[in-house]
Amino acid sequence: MTSTDLNPFAIAQQQLDEAAEKLGLDQATREFLRWPLREFVVTIPLRMDDGSVKIFRGYRVQYNHARGPTKGGLRWHPDETIDTVRALAAWMTWKTSVVDIPLGGGKGGITCNPKELSETEKERLARAYIRAVGRLLGVTKDVPAPDVYTTPQIMAWMMDEFETIEKEAHPGVITGKPLALGGSQGRGDATARGGVYCVREAAKMLGLDLKGKTAAIQGFGNAGQYGAILGQEILGLKIVAASDSRGGVYNPDGLDAQALVDYKLRTGKIDGFKNSKPISNEEILELDVAVLFPSALENVITGRNAARIKAKISCELANGPTTPEADKILYEKGVFVLPDFLANAGGVTVSYFEQVQNTYNFYWPLEEVHSRLDEKMTKAFHAVYEMHKKEKVHMRLAAYMVAVNRVAEACKLRGWV
Ligand code: GLU
Repeated sequence: MTSTDLNPFAIAQQQLDEAAEKLGLDQATREFLRWPLREFVVTIPLRMDDGSVKIFRGYRVQYNHARGPTKGGLRWHPDETIDTVRALAAWMTWKTSVVDIPLGGGKGGITCNPKELSETEKERLARAYIRAVGRLLGVTKDVPAPDVYTTPQIMAWMMDEFETIEKEAHPGVITGKPLALGGSQGRGDATARGGVYCVREAAKMLGLDLKGKTAAIQGFGNAGQYGAILGQEILGLKIVAASDSRGGVYNPDGLDAQALVDYKLRTGKIDGFKNSKPISNEEILELDVAVLFPSALENVITGRNAARIKAKISCELANGPTTPEADKILYEKGVFVLPDFLANAGGVTVSYFEQVQNTYNFYWPLEEVHSRLDEKMTKAFHAVYEMHKKEKVHMRLAAYMVAVNRVAEACKLRGWV
Protein backbone atom coordinates (compact mmCIF):
# COMPACT_ATOMS: atom_id res chain seq x y z
CA MET A 1 0.00 0.00 0.00
CA THR A 2 1.33 3.45 -0.85
CA SER A 3 0.55 6.79 0.73
CA THR A 4 -1.87 7.52 -2.10
CA ASP A 5 -4.09 4.60 -1.05
CA LEU A 6 -5.47 5.73 2.26
CA ASN A 7 -8.90 4.13 2.50
CA PRO A 8 -9.18 3.57 6.28
CA PHE A 9 -11.08 0.31 5.87
CA ALA A 10 -8.48 -1.11 3.48
CA ILE A 11 -5.89 -0.12 6.08
CA ALA A 12 -7.86 -1.77 8.91
CA GLN A 13 -8.09 -4.97 6.85
CA GLN A 14 -4.39 -4.87 6.03
CA GLN A 15 -3.49 -4.47 9.72
CA LEU A 16 -5.76 -7.39 10.61
CA ASP A 17 -4.30 -9.60 7.87
CA GLU A 18 -0.82 -9.06 9.23
CA ALA A 19 -1.89 -9.99 12.78
CA ALA A 20 -3.89 -13.01 11.57
CA GLU A 21 -0.83 -14.23 9.69
CA LYS A 22 1.38 -13.83 12.76
CA LEU A 23 -1.18 -15.59 14.94
CA GLY A 24 -1.58 -18.39 12.40
CA LEU A 25 -5.39 -18.06 12.33
CA ASP A 26 -7.26 -20.42 10.04
CA GLN A 27 -8.59 -19.14 6.72
CA ALA A 28 -12.27 -18.97 7.73
CA THR A 29 -11.55 -16.95 10.88
CA ARG A 30 -9.38 -14.54 8.91
CA GLU A 31 -12.03 -13.94 6.28
CA PHE A 32 -14.76 -13.68 8.92
CA LEU A 33 -12.93 -11.01 10.92
CA ARG A 34 -12.17 -8.91 7.82
CA TRP A 35 -15.82 -7.80 7.45
CA PRO A 36 -18.53 -6.20 9.57
CA LEU A 37 -21.25 -8.60 10.66
CA ARG A 38 -23.91 -6.00 9.91
CA GLU A 39 -24.15 -2.54 8.46
CA PHE A 40 -27.00 -0.10 8.16
CA VAL A 41 -27.18 2.93 5.94
CA VAL A 42 -30.06 5.35 6.36
CA THR A 43 -31.28 8.44 4.56
CA ILE A 44 -32.48 11.21 6.85
CA PRO A 45 -34.54 14.19 5.68
CA LEU A 46 -33.99 17.15 7.99
CA ARG A 47 -36.19 20.22 8.26
CA MET A 48 -33.78 23.16 8.45
CA ASP A 49 -34.50 26.31 10.47
CA ASP A 50 -35.30 28.25 7.28
CA GLY A 51 -38.04 25.76 6.37
CA SER A 52 -36.12 23.96 3.60
CA VAL A 53 -35.37 20.22 3.74
CA LYS A 54 -31.85 18.77 3.50
CA ILE A 55 -31.07 15.09 3.02
CA PHE A 56 -28.35 13.40 5.10
CA ARG A 57 -26.76 9.94 5.04
CA GLY A 58 -26.39 8.10 8.33
CA TYR A 59 -24.58 4.87 9.20
CA ARG A 60 -24.34 2.28 11.95
CA VAL A 61 -21.93 -0.62 11.54
CA GLN A 62 -22.01 -3.51 14.03
CA TYR A 63 -18.65 -5.08 13.33
CA ASN A 64 -18.45 -8.00 15.71
CA HIS A 65 -20.41 -8.97 18.85
CA ALA A 66 -18.67 -12.24 19.78
CA ARG A 67 -17.43 -10.76 23.09
CA GLY A 68 -20.58 -8.78 23.88
CA PRO A 69 -23.02 -6.18 22.51
CA THR A 70 -21.42 -3.81 20.01
CA LYS A 71 -20.16 -0.47 21.31
CA GLY A 72 -18.73 2.61 19.70
CA GLY A 73 -19.15 6.27 18.99
CA LEU A 74 -21.03 8.38 16.47
CA ARG A 75 -19.06 10.73 14.31
CA TRP A 76 -20.61 13.72 12.56
CA HIS A 77 -18.15 14.78 9.89
CA PRO A 78 -18.32 15.98 6.26
CA ASP A 79 -15.87 13.25 5.16
CA GLU A 80 -17.73 10.38 6.82
CA THR A 81 -18.30 7.42 4.47
CA ILE A 82 -19.34 3.81 4.95
CA ASP A 83 -15.65 2.89 4.79
CA THR A 84 -14.54 5.27 7.54
CA VAL A 85 -17.35 3.88 9.70
CA ARG A 86 -16.37 0.28 8.89
CA ALA A 87 -12.75 0.97 9.81
CA LEU A 88 -13.71 2.71 13.03
CA ALA A 89 -16.09 -0.17 13.89
CA ALA A 90 -13.30 -2.69 13.32
CA TRP A 91 -10.97 -0.66 15.53
CA MET A 92 -13.68 -0.56 18.24
CA THR A 93 -13.78 -4.37 18.13
CA TRP A 94 -10.04 -4.55 18.80
CA LYS A 95 -10.29 -1.71 21.34
CA THR A 96 -12.89 -3.35 23.61
CA SER A 97 -10.93 -6.57 23.33
CA VAL A 98 -7.51 -5.14 24.16
CA VAL A 99 -8.85 -3.58 27.39
CA ASP A 100 -10.80 -6.77 28.01
CA ILE A 101 -14.28 -5.38 28.55
CA PRO A 102 -17.25 -7.62 27.68
CA LEU A 103 -18.33 -5.71 24.58
CA GLY A 104 -17.97 -5.94 20.83
CA GLY A 105 -17.25 -3.17 18.36
CA GLY A 106 -19.46 -0.86 16.35
CA LYS A 107 -19.48 2.66 15.02
CA GLY A 108 -21.85 5.12 13.44
CA GLY A 109 -22.00 8.50 11.91
CA ILE A 110 -23.70 11.04 9.75
CA THR A 111 -22.09 12.75 6.78
CA CYS A 112 -22.63 16.38 7.74
CA ASN A 113 -20.82 19.50 8.85
CA PRO A 114 -22.05 20.23 12.39
CA LYS A 115 -20.30 23.62 12.29
CA GLU A 116 -22.93 24.66 9.74
CA LEU A 117 -25.90 23.41 11.79
CA SER A 118 -27.76 25.41 14.43
CA GLU A 119 -28.47 23.86 17.85
CA THR A 120 -32.09 23.20 16.90
CA GLU A 121 -31.04 21.56 13.62
CA LYS A 122 -28.58 19.38 15.54
CA GLU A 123 -31.30 18.34 17.96
CA ARG A 124 -33.66 17.38 15.11
CA LEU A 125 -30.84 15.48 13.35
CA ALA A 126 -29.95 13.58 16.54
CA ARG A 127 -33.58 12.59 17.09
CA ALA A 128 -34.09 11.66 13.44
CA TYR A 129 -31.02 9.42 13.55
CA ILE A 130 -32.46 7.56 16.54
CA ARG A 131 -35.82 7.17 14.79
CA ALA A 132 -33.90 5.63 11.88
CA VAL A 133 -31.50 3.32 13.72
CA GLY A 134 -32.99 3.11 17.24
CA ARG A 135 -34.47 -0.32 16.51
CA LEU A 136 -30.93 -1.67 16.36
CA LEU A 137 -29.83 -0.17 19.68
CA GLY A 138 -30.09 -1.18 23.34
CA VAL A 139 -27.86 -2.34 26.20
CA THR A 140 -28.06 -5.93 25.02
CA LYS A 141 -27.57 -4.99 21.34
CA ASP A 142 -25.50 -1.95 20.52
CA VAL A 143 -24.62 1.19 22.49
CA PRO A 144 -23.40 4.43 20.84
CA ALA A 145 -21.32 7.21 22.42
CA PRO A 146 -19.67 10.49 21.40
CA ASP A 147 -16.90 10.71 18.82
CA VAL A 148 -15.60 13.49 16.56
CA TYR A 149 -18.01 16.49 16.70
CA THR A 150 -20.64 14.79 18.83
CA THR A 151 -21.22 15.89 22.42
CA PRO A 152 -22.91 14.92 25.71
CA GLN A 153 -25.82 17.16 24.68
CA ILE A 154 -26.29 15.17 21.47
CA MET A 155 -26.19 11.95 23.53
CA ALA A 156 -28.88 13.43 25.81
CA TRP A 157 -31.23 14.17 22.88
CA MET A 158 -30.64 10.70 21.49
CA MET A 159 -31.35 8.99 24.80
CA ASP A 160 -34.51 11.05 25.21
CA GLU A 161 -35.73 10.13 21.73
CA PHE A 162 -35.04 6.44 22.38
CA GLU A 163 -36.90 6.54 25.70
CA THR A 164 -39.79 8.40 24.08
CA ILE A 165 -40.10 5.63 21.47
CA GLU A 166 -39.71 2.83 24.04
CA LYS A 167 -41.87 4.56 26.68
CA GLU A 168 -39.53 3.61 29.52
CA ALA A 169 -36.15 4.54 31.00
CA HIS A 170 -33.09 3.26 29.10
CA PRO A 171 -30.16 5.30 30.40
CA GLY A 172 -27.67 2.65 29.27
CA VAL A 173 -28.71 2.85 25.60
CA ILE A 174 -26.07 5.50 25.04
CA THR A 175 -22.96 6.61 26.94
CA GLY A 176 -21.09 9.86 27.27
CA LYS A 177 -24.28 11.44 28.60
CA PRO A 178 -24.26 14.56 30.78
CA LEU A 179 -23.88 13.76 34.50
CA ALA A 180 -27.43 14.93 35.20
CA LEU A 181 -28.81 12.21 32.90
CA GLY A 182 -26.81 9.23 34.15
CA GLY A 183 -23.41 10.02 32.72
CA SER A 184 -20.36 8.76 34.60
CA GLN A 185 -17.91 10.82 36.56
CA GLY A 186 -14.68 10.92 34.63
CA ARG A 187 -16.13 10.17 31.16
CA GLY A 188 -15.25 13.64 29.84
CA ASP A 189 -11.47 13.28 30.03
CA ALA A 190 -11.34 9.46 29.91
CA THR A 191 -9.91 9.08 26.39
CA ALA A 192 -6.94 11.32 27.11
CA ARG A 193 -6.50 10.03 30.67
CA GLY A 194 -6.21 6.45 29.42
CA GLY A 195 -3.60 7.59 26.88
CA VAL A 196 -1.64 9.44 29.53
CA TYR A 197 -1.63 6.33 31.74
CA CYS A 198 -0.21 4.40 28.75
CA VAL A 199 2.51 7.03 28.25
CA ARG A 200 3.38 6.77 31.96
CA GLU A 201 3.78 2.99 31.67
CA ALA A 202 5.71 3.28 28.39
CA ALA A 203 8.13 5.77 29.93
CA LYS A 204 8.80 3.33 32.78
CA MET A 205 9.56 0.53 30.32
CA LEU A 206 11.74 2.76 28.14
CA GLY A 207 13.57 4.29 31.09
CA LEU A 208 12.48 7.82 30.18
CA ASP A 209 11.96 10.55 32.74
CA LEU A 210 9.24 12.75 31.27
CA LYS A 211 9.16 15.47 33.90
CA GLY A 212 9.77 18.83 32.22
CA LYS A 213 10.10 17.18 28.80
CA THR A 214 8.26 18.53 25.79
CA ALA A 215 5.01 17.44 24.13
CA ALA A 216 3.02 18.48 21.07
CA ILE A 217 -0.70 18.00 20.49
CA GLN A 218 -2.01 17.64 16.93
CA GLY A 219 -5.79 18.12 17.08
CA PHE A 220 -7.53 20.06 19.81
CA GLY A 221 -10.97 18.51 20.29
CA ASN A 222 -11.94 16.62 23.45
CA ALA A 223 -8.99 14.19 23.32
CA GLY A 224 -6.35 16.79 22.44
CA GLN A 225 -7.54 19.33 25.02
CA TYR A 226 -7.50 16.84 27.87
CA GLY A 227 -4.29 15.31 26.51
CA ALA A 228 -2.64 18.71 27.01
CA ILE A 229 -4.10 19.27 30.47
CA LEU A 230 -3.42 15.76 31.80
CA GLY A 231 -0.04 15.46 30.07
CA GLN A 232 0.98 18.54 32.04
CA GLU A 233 -0.77 17.52 35.28
CA ILE A 234 -0.03 13.78 35.51
CA LEU A 235 3.23 13.43 33.55
CA GLY A 236 4.73 16.88 34.17
CA LEU A 237 5.12 17.41 30.41
CA LYS A 238 5.71 20.86 28.97
CA ILE A 239 3.22 21.40 26.14
CA VAL A 240 5.13 23.37 23.50
CA ALA A 241 2.70 23.17 20.59
CA ALA A 242 -0.90 22.44 19.72
CA SER A 243 -3.00 22.65 16.58
CA ASP A 244 -6.58 22.35 15.41
CA SER A 245 -8.11 22.23 11.93
CA ARG A 246 -7.45 25.96 11.45
CA GLY A 247 -3.78 26.07 12.48
CA GLY A 248 -1.47 25.81 15.44
CA VAL A 249 0.49 27.61 18.11
CA TYR A 250 4.05 27.08 19.34
CA ASN A 251 6.07 28.29 22.31
CA PRO A 252 9.33 26.47 23.14
CA ASP A 253 9.00 27.64 26.76
CA GLY A 254 5.64 25.93 27.12
CA LEU A 255 1.97 26.83 26.74
CA ASP A 256 -0.42 26.92 29.68
CA ALA A 257 -2.68 24.00 28.72
CA GLN A 258 -5.71 25.08 30.76
CA ALA A 259 -5.49 28.67 29.48
CA LEU A 260 -5.24 27.37 25.90
CA VAL A 261 -8.32 25.19 26.37
CA ASP A 262 -10.23 28.15 27.87
CA TYR A 263 -9.16 30.27 24.88
CA LYS A 264 -10.32 27.59 22.42
CA LEU A 265 -13.68 27.22 24.20
CA ARG A 266 -14.13 31.00 24.23
CA THR A 267 -13.06 31.78 20.65
CA GLY A 268 -13.51 28.46 18.81
CA LYS A 269 -9.86 28.51 17.67
CA ILE A 270 -6.34 28.32 19.08
CA ASP A 271 -4.40 30.54 16.73
CA GLY A 272 -3.76 33.97 18.17
CA PHE A 273 -3.20 32.55 21.68
CA LYS A 274 -0.98 34.84 23.79
CA ASN A 275 2.82 34.39 23.73
CA SER A 276 2.83 31.94 20.85
CA LYS A 277 4.03 31.72 17.27
CA PRO A 278 1.94 30.19 14.49
CA ILE A 279 2.83 26.65 13.39
CA SER A 280 1.24 24.35 10.82
CA ASN A 281 -0.23 20.90 11.44
CA GLU A 282 2.56 19.38 9.35
CA GLU A 283 5.28 21.10 11.38
CA ILE A 284 3.74 20.08 14.71
CA LEU A 285 3.98 16.41 13.78
CA GLU A 286 7.67 16.77 13.01
CA LEU A 287 8.72 18.66 16.16
CA ASP A 288 11.55 17.24 18.21
CA VAL A 289 9.49 16.46 21.32
CA ALA A 290 9.42 13.67 23.89
CA VAL A 291 5.74 12.91 23.34
CA LEU A 292 3.56 13.56 20.32
CA PHE A 293 -0.21 13.21 20.69
CA PRO A 294 -1.88 12.77 17.27
CA SER A 295 -5.42 13.65 18.39
CA ALA A 296 -7.41 14.55 15.28
CA LEU A 297 -8.26 12.27 12.37
CA GLU A 298 -6.90 9.41 10.25
CA ASN A 299 -3.82 9.29 8.02
CA VAL A 300 -1.73 12.20 9.29
CA ILE A 301 1.48 10.16 9.68
CA THR A 302 2.11 8.46 6.35
CA GLY A 303 4.98 7.23 4.18
CA ARG A 304 5.45 10.85 3.20
CA ASN A 305 6.40 12.30 6.60
CA ALA A 306 7.12 9.31 8.89
CA ALA A 307 10.89 9.56 8.41
CA ARG A 308 10.74 13.11 9.78
CA ILE A 309 8.86 12.26 13.00
CA LYS A 310 11.25 12.93 15.88
CA ALA A 311 9.10 12.23 18.95
CA LYS A 312 10.26 9.48 21.33
CA ILE A 313 6.68 8.37 21.98
CA SER A 314 3.65 8.84 19.73
CA CYS A 315 0.49 8.44 21.78
CA GLU A 316 -2.42 8.08 19.35
CA LEU A 317 -5.48 9.67 20.90
CA ALA A 318 -7.03 9.83 17.41
CA ASN A 319 -8.25 6.75 15.57
CA GLY A 320 -6.12 5.70 12.61
CA PRO A 321 -3.57 8.55 12.49
CA THR A 322 -0.70 6.34 11.24
CA THR A 323 -0.67 4.27 8.04
CA PRO A 324 0.92 0.79 7.84
CA GLU A 325 3.69 2.20 5.65
CA ALA A 326 4.47 4.81 8.31
CA ASP A 327 4.32 2.20 11.09
CA LYS A 328 7.26 0.33 9.56
CA ILE A 329 9.30 3.51 9.22
CA LEU A 330 8.57 4.61 12.80
CA TYR A 331 9.47 1.17 14.14
CA GLU A 332 12.77 1.17 12.31
CA LYS A 333 13.50 4.70 13.52
CA GLY A 334 12.76 3.72 17.12
CA VAL A 335 9.69 5.94 17.64
CA PHE A 336 7.65 4.13 20.29
CA VAL A 337 4.03 4.13 19.09
CA LEU A 338 1.15 3.69 21.51
CA PRO A 339 -1.38 2.51 18.94
CA ASP A 340 -4.82 4.11 18.74
CA PHE A 341 -7.03 1.30 19.92
CA LEU A 342 -4.87 0.85 23.00
CA ALA A 343 -3.95 4.49 23.64
CA ASN A 344 -7.47 5.88 23.27
CA ALA A 345 -9.36 2.98 24.86
CA GLY A 346 -9.95 4.98 28.05
CA GLY A 347 -13.06 6.52 26.49
CA VAL A 348 -14.85 3.28 25.84
CA THR A 349 -13.62 1.85 29.14
CA VAL A 350 -15.35 4.60 31.10
CA SER A 351 -18.35 4.25 28.75
CA TYR A 352 -18.49 0.65 29.89
CA PHE A 353 -18.32 1.83 33.53
CA GLU A 354 -21.16 4.23 32.71
CA GLN A 355 -23.28 1.36 31.40
CA VAL A 356 -22.52 -0.72 34.49
CA GLN A 357 -23.57 2.17 36.75
CA ASN A 358 -26.74 2.76 34.69
CA THR A 359 -27.66 -0.90 35.05
CA TYR A 360 -27.02 -0.87 38.84
CA ASN A 361 -28.63 2.57 39.11
CA PHE A 362 -25.83 3.33 41.56
CA TYR A 363 -23.03 5.77 40.81
CA TRP A 364 -19.33 5.75 41.63
CA PRO A 365 -17.21 8.64 42.89
CA LEU A 366 -14.60 10.11 40.54
CA GLU A 367 -11.68 8.47 42.40
CA GLU A 368 -13.20 5.04 41.84
CA VAL A 369 -13.56 5.67 38.10
CA HIS A 370 -9.96 6.85 37.91
CA SER A 371 -8.52 3.89 39.78
CA ARG A 372 -10.57 1.33 37.83
CA LEU A 373 -9.55 3.02 34.56
CA ASP A 374 -5.91 3.04 35.60
CA GLU A 375 -6.08 -0.65 36.42
CA LYS A 376 -7.63 -1.53 33.03
CA MET A 377 -5.25 0.63 30.98
CA THR A 378 -2.13 -0.48 32.83
CA LYS A 379 -3.04 -4.13 32.41
CA ALA A 380 -3.80 -3.64 28.70
CA PHE A 381 -0.56 -1.75 28.12
CA HIS A 382 1.53 -4.49 29.71
CA ALA A 383 -0.24 -7.30 27.83
CA VAL A 384 0.62 -5.50 24.58
CA TYR A 385 4.13 -4.59 25.69
CA GLU A 386 4.89 -8.20 26.59
CA MET A 387 3.67 -9.35 23.17
CA HIS A 388 5.79 -6.63 21.53
CA LYS A 389 8.88 -7.89 23.36
CA LYS A 390 8.15 -11.58 22.93
CA GLU A 391 7.29 -11.47 19.21
CA LYS A 392 9.68 -8.62 18.33
CA VAL A 393 6.92 -6.72 16.52
CA HIS A 394 5.88 -3.08 16.75
CA MET A 395 3.31 -2.09 19.36
CA ARG A 396 0.41 -1.88 16.87
CA LEU A 397 0.95 -5.38 15.61
CA ALA A 398 1.36 -6.56 19.21
CA ALA A 399 -1.93 -4.88 20.18
CA TYR A 400 -3.64 -6.53 17.20
CA MET A 401 -2.26 -9.91 18.21
CA VAL A 402 -3.59 -9.58 21.76
CA ALA A 403 -6.99 -8.23 20.70
CA VAL A 404 -7.66 -10.36 17.62
CA ASN A 405 -6.71 -13.52 19.45
CA ARG A 406 -9.39 -12.85 22.10
CA VAL A 407 -12.08 -12.08 19.51
CA ALA A 408 -11.12 -15.14 17.45
CA GLU A 409 -11.36 -17.31 20.56
CA ALA A 410 -14.86 -15.97 21.34
CA CYS A 411 -15.96 -16.61 17.73
CA LYS A 412 -14.65 -20.15 17.94
CA LEU A 413 -16.31 -20.86 21.28
CA ARG A 414 -19.61 -19.71 19.81
CA GLY A 415 -19.15 -22.14 16.97
CA TRP A 416 -19.09 -19.41 14.32
CA VAL A 417 -15.83 -20.41 12.68
N1 GLU B 1 -15.70 7.26 20.24
C1 GLU B 1 -14.84 6.75 21.27
C2 GLU B 1 -13.82 5.81 20.68
O1 GLU B 1 -13.47 5.88 19.52
C3 GLU B 1 -15.60 6.18 22.45
C4 GLU B 1 -16.50 5.04 22.15
C5 GLU B 1 -17.42 4.65 23.29
O2 GLU B 1 -17.31 5.22 24.36
O3 GLU B 1 -18.24 3.76 23.07
O4 GLU B 1 -13.27 4.99 21.36
